[in-house]
Amino acid sequence: MNWTDLLARRMERMKASEIRELLKLLDQPDILSFAGGIPDPALFPAEDYARAMAEALSGAGAGQALQYSVSEGYRPLREWLAGHMGTIGVPCGPENILITSGSQQALDYLGKLLVTPGDTVMVGWPTYLGALGAFNACEPRYVPLDVWSNAAPEAVQAEAEAAGGRVKMAYLSPDFANPTGETLDAAGRLRLLERAEALGIAVIEDGAYQALRYDGQAVPPMLATDVARSGGIESSRVIYCGSFSKTLAPGLRVGWVCAASPVIERLVLLKQAADLHSPTLNQMATERVARELFDRHVARLRAVYGARRDRMLAALAREMPEGVTWTRPEGGMFVWVTLPKGLDAAEVLARSLREEKVAFVPGGAFFPDGSGKNTLRLSFSCAQDAQIDEGMKRLGRLLRLYTS
Ligand code: PMP
Repeated sequence: MNWTDLLARRMERMKASEIRELLKLLDQPDILSFAGGIPDPALFPAEDYARAMAEALSGAGAGQALQYSVSEGYRPLREWLAGHMGTIGVPCGPENILITSGSQQALDYLGKLLVTPGDTVMVGWPTYLGALGAFNACEPRYVPLDVWSNAAPEAVQAEAEAAGGRVKMAYLSPDFANPTGETLDAAGRLRLLERAEALGIAVIEDGAYQALRYDGQAVPPMLATDVARSGGIESSRVIYCGSFSKTLAPGLRVGWVCAASPVIERLVLLKQAADLHSPTLNQMATERVARELFDRHVARLRAVYGARRDRMLAALAREMPEGVTWTRPEGGMFVWVTLPKGLDAAEVLARSLREEKVAFVPGGAFFPDGSGKNTLRLSFSCAQDAQIDEGMKRLGRLLRLYTS
């Protein structure tokens, strides 16, 4: 059977993720891995979930937990999330919230909602690989999202039209981005909103790491700024994607979209068509756990991950040879390293795995055009102090062979 002949055109853009392949390495005990951007399982509130699930399954609630449900999501969780969005500067109601199976599903739906093949999507260069994967199915053209660009909006749209579509949306993770760890400041956020308005496009704000700030001043979400500017959530052009994956537990696949209700109503149609609804039991348990301990738990995560970030930055300063630079993230899970020009991080990785047993993600995968070969992503979220010290020592030793 020749499947290649049968595949839809969109499959030309769907490639195996380098990160998924690398995650397999986490199972090998002798590898020091800074590759996977995942939360530390030792920090999952497992007992609280066990209790919440047992409660959801006992008595009259069991029928609801195990039955089909509405596509919008479990109402009490939507209400809790509306309150949560309020605490980060976004006054809204449950009609502005859709529960999704992780924020990854939201990205998939948003591509389907806004992108016709040939349309242009503005993304960071580099950007979250999973967003590119989700949007790729809609066959977009990508252009770099340059917040400070002075290009005339008409010229940008004319170029997109010449390429076969329109600019439809800008996607970014303004807080502690994956993969760079960088944060867009308030002036940059405002500028981007103004540009988006001039271009007449939507802004997809990926808030996956938003709660994980370790120091510095919190910057209001772009949705909050736009709600204040435009007079309310119903007039905002920002679509916010949130997730419990980095704060509570990724395995339950509970995320959300917060946006103007006409956007939510259309996303509900996409969700109905895709999977009817996200698992109700997971939503019920997440609502109970979030209500009981979200703030307290996030405070604990900040303390633990923040200390690991400090440890990694100190180890990098000690161990990296001249010519290697890196970001100093105020939150999230990643440090982004730039090697001297001409070095290929994928080649360095192959050698690192063989000779030093250290894993990281080569940065090229995060660039829509495969550039950025001399960059790499390190994650500090799952590493103990001694592993960070030893891992950076080994990586520094290897890189010195290339740079001296
Ligand atoms: N956005 C970003 C920036 C991410 O790093 C991730 C997970 N790696 C996601 C979205 C998707 O996470 P989830 O589907 O678990 O919410």
